Amino acid sequence: MSRMERCPLCRAAHRGGAQCHRCGADLTLLLTIEDQAEQWRVRAMADLANGDPNAARTAIERACKLKRTPYDSILQAFLSSDRG
Ligand SMILES: [Zn+2]
Repeated sequence: MSRMERCPLCRAAHRGGAQCHRCGADLTLLLTIEDQAEQWRVRAMADLANGDPNAARTAIERACKLKRTPYDSILQAFLSSDRG
């Protein structure tokens, strides 16, 4: 589920493990944070589908605190304009 593409320390391409194959950095925490952000993002979409934009806004804010993506910014702007 992770979207990490490169090791933050040595920039080696990430091959999917919990450790960087090149420098041996422990990526567990970063991967966990990315997964948690992704879960909040999924939650936001579910809240939106359920007609609860306030809950969706809260969920996407939590995702952004963990890891902000361009997608989050778009969704936040959408939810903000929704409130009027
Ligand atoms: Zn590395």
